Amino acid sequence: MEQHPVTRALRTRIEKTNEGEHSSPLFLTSSFCFNDAEQMRAAFADETEDNIYSRFSNPSVQEFIDRVCILEGAEAGFATASGMSAVFGSFMALLSQGDHLLSCSSIFGSTHTVISKYLPKYGIEYSYVSATNPQEWEASIRPNTKMIYLETPTNPGLDIIDLKFVSQLAKKYNVILNVDNCFATPLGQRPIDFGADLVVHSATKWMDGQGRVLGGIVVGRKDLIHDIYLFCRSTGPALSPFNAWVLSKSLETLDVRMDRHASNALHIAQKLEGHPKLSWLKYPFLPSHQQYDIAIKQMKNGGGIVCFELKGGLESGRAFLNNLKLLSLTANLGDTKSIASHPASTTHAKLTAEEKLAVNITPGLIRISVGLEYVEDILNDILQSLEVLSEP
Ligand SMILES: *Cc1c(COP(=O)(O)O)cnc(C)c1O
Repeated sequence: MEQHPVTRALRTRIEKTNEGEHSSPLFLTSSFCFNDAEQMRAAFADETEDNIYSRFSNPSVQEFIDRVCILEGAEAGFATASGMSAVFGSFMALLSQGDHLLSCSSIFGSTHTVISKYLPKYGIEYSYVSATNPQEWEASIRPNTKMIYLETPTNPGLDIIDLKFVSQLAKKYNVILNVDNCFATPLGQRPIDFGADLVVHSATKWMDGQGRVLGGIVVGRKDLIHDIYLFCRSTGPALSPFNAWVLSKSLETLDVRMDRHASNALHIAQKLEGHPKLSWLKYPFLPSHQQYDIAIKQMKNGGGIVCFELKGGLESGRAFLNNLKLLSLTANLGDTKSIASHPASTTHAKLTAEEKLAVNITPGLIRISVGLEYVEDILNDILQSLEVLSEP
């Protein structure tokens, strides 16, 4: 009987030394030696899989890639220094001048910047559709559309996009489907099972899950990954072997961590829903979520993020952060420690009111990354912070 991907990923390791170590060794080396000129020639001619230089490949990095490929059900992968270099590498390796990228308006802020500010500099067109209006997707495909890029659940709005629907569309028009699976993790959702060609991750978030290192990865179809590999090996966004070693270790506990993050988040969402200070609350696995039916079809759990809108708007958002005693105010998510953020006054403060609405940032939007503290302690901190907000 074939073992479950969780078992296979946990037990996969790239190389053994003669020491019998149980934990994988860390290959902190920039380059690799050859026995003779012929072996070196063959490696450079791509006739062997020998490591050459850690900008191209490294055993510790490969172990991390292998583990993510198993969890995502992917053929191949390339790991990068951050989530953004995985996103950018997948764009630059596969898109050319004159191509069109179709994406969704509610996406991670830096991805939004890359698509709308930098891709046009290289002659790559883009357009955005609304996450919650599937009809728009087909209507927005152009003859030169080369890639569809999306996130589900979206950051920070937690909209859910139907992966099966979009992948059928991508197949129909022969377009590459590239999915940022950062919020769900491969244990919450496997986009490749629904027909995605590529999956990118910010490993910085749930994969590390302990707020220590930056990292990113793109996995998927072998031919596409090969092009991304060639682009990255020349341009240099390689993941550090040390970070890869940390991330590889982190993956061994991803399953149990995500289970608890998700059950804590569901509990908090259930308890807060309908609170008089909130105008709405969203969590993918609450039946009240607009795309609940899609969420339960394609996700194994609702993930670790809960978001809600404070009736008191911008000022309440700031006061809510100030009243918190346990939750951290920090620009990250997917940590063991719970985190609260108020995008309208922080990460998205520079956008105009219109631009904020276009990416679904409303004035009183609070995003909670639910950590692994005892769940009632997280809930009580949120409740006491809501309690002292003035009535709207
Ligand atoms: C954080 C994040 C990224 C970028 O990852 P970095 O590791 O910070 O570069 C991309 N997509 C999503 C959804 C994110 O949350």
